[in-house]
Amino acid sequence: MPADHSRALLLGQNVTDQPQSELAQRLEGASVSIDIDLGIPGAVLTASILVRTLRRLPGRISIDPDELPTSLVERLRVEAEAIDPDRPIAVGRPRAGDTIIRIGTTGPPGSLRVIPDLHGFRLSWASNSLQQGKPASALGSAAAAAAAAAETFKVAARVIGVRGRRHRRLAWCPVTLSHRPAQGPDLPRDWQLDGLLLGLGAIGSATALILSELPVEGSLDLVDPQRFAPENVGTYSLGGAKEALDQPWKTSVAASALRRFETRSWNAVAAYLPELIDAGRLRWPPIVLTGLDSPDARRDSQRLWPDHLIDGATGDTMVGLHAITAVGRPCLACFFPPTATPTVSPTRELERATGLPTELLVRGAEILLEAHLEGLSVAHQERLRPFVGREICGLASALGLTELPDEGYRPSVAFVSLTAATLVVGRLVAIAAGWRTASNFVQYDTLAGPRQPTREWRTARPACDCVQRAGVVAEVRRRRAAYRFVDRPPSIGHDRMTPASNEA
Ligand SMILES: [Zn+2]
Repeated sequence: MPADHSRALLLGQNVTDQPQSELAQRLEGASVSIDIDLGIPGAVLTASILVRTLRRLPGRISIDPDELPTSLVERLRVEAEAIDPDRPIAVGRPRAGDTIIRIGTTGPPGSLRVIPDLHGFRLSWASNSLQQGKPASALGSAAAAAAAAAETFKVAARVIGVRGRRHRRLAWCPVTLSHRPAQGPDLPRDWQLDGLLLGLGAIGSATALILSELPVEGSLDLVDPQRFAPENVGTYSLGGAKEALDQPWKTSVAASALRRFETRSWNAVAAYLPELIDAGRLRWPPIVLTGLDSPDARRDSQRLWPDHLIDGATGDTMVGLHAITAVGRPCLACFFPPTATPTVSPTRELERATGLPTELLVRGAEILLEAHLEGLSVAHQERLRPFVGREICGLASALGLTELPDEGYRPSVAFVSLTAATLVVGRLVAIAAGWRTASNFVQYDTLAGPRQPTREWRTARPACDCVQRAGVVAEVRRRRAAYRFVDRPPSIGHDRMTPASNEA
């Protein structure tokens, strides 16, 4: 069954100036050569996740076998083949025209050097001076692989504008949300996780992949109403050619990866869960990690009122994180209010926020000059002054105005979803390690990179239930806490529970 690359083409079309037919040819004709420095802790896992992520896209992948053990090359080859047997990876020295990715601190001129650094990554297209500050965790390897895949896509599709620019240097940590990865916390010793993964699609499968590689065990309830489908191969981080044929439940695909956990599968939608909890059938989870694709499902997930609700989001090339804490304010419904807000064009919104005329704002590649500030209000001038000398198209994101779309969240390509999952697991690590973060909302573009990510502390909407009915929420949480530690009922009949209305 040929892999479905329609999402990659759609995404590529939005960030290049090419029609899909041309882009398809371009992506299929792209060739990447991967070289691994075995001396870098975490390099092998980075390579493995990178190969698996790239194999969900079209194009040629080759592994430079120089100084690599045959068993490692064979492992990478088998992992890729499980995803797309029609495009086996090649083994050999780089060819002329290959994009060279060196998972190491040094590489030939023009290559992408990338290394995991603790829970984050460092990369450079230009310099041989990368240094790993601390040995990498599996989260660091996933972050490095996702970033390297984004850079590869940028080159293969010839992405234009700010998003197409190759980073001379970039460093980022999804735990500390800073550009200094080595300053992050160590993973907890004997880390135990008791939680629920809600939504095992593009983001959820990537979250499961990262968790499966981390030194963490415990108990996880896995929730998703659907079976794996052939079109998921191009966008998910778990499942390949075999799953496309067998079409197992998505919860089963995740359970097979999460071997260190005691897992239970619930093939149901989020809306059923509060009922199951209050009936004593599903244990109230302290931590819920979500990868959902609609505002409705997000609001349903909030009704669980767990101690922590960590929500990952994607919209084309954007990734986002919404982190809800025990007090429940702001809640996920504050981020995704039930009533549709009137849509304002992004340019109009930017015009209002900056005072700059639309005629200028639509010319994204133009540089913002001091002269453009003349005649604006003092407040607008102060707001814009730090951006003088930069491209106008970066303004919206820098001012935090590019919002992920409220509706129409769609599964993105695998490297975007994997990046969103690094934010989800990053927050999980922060909580587990007792690392305090000042943002409950994070957002950035995966192609432009987290150079100037949006990091904010959002407050609750006064009209939201979490404010208006705070007493009821507290009472629900108190009652659920009372039977949190009661033994679970036997799992017979639960593992394959599929409410009839949710049949795929
Ligand atoms: Zn709320």
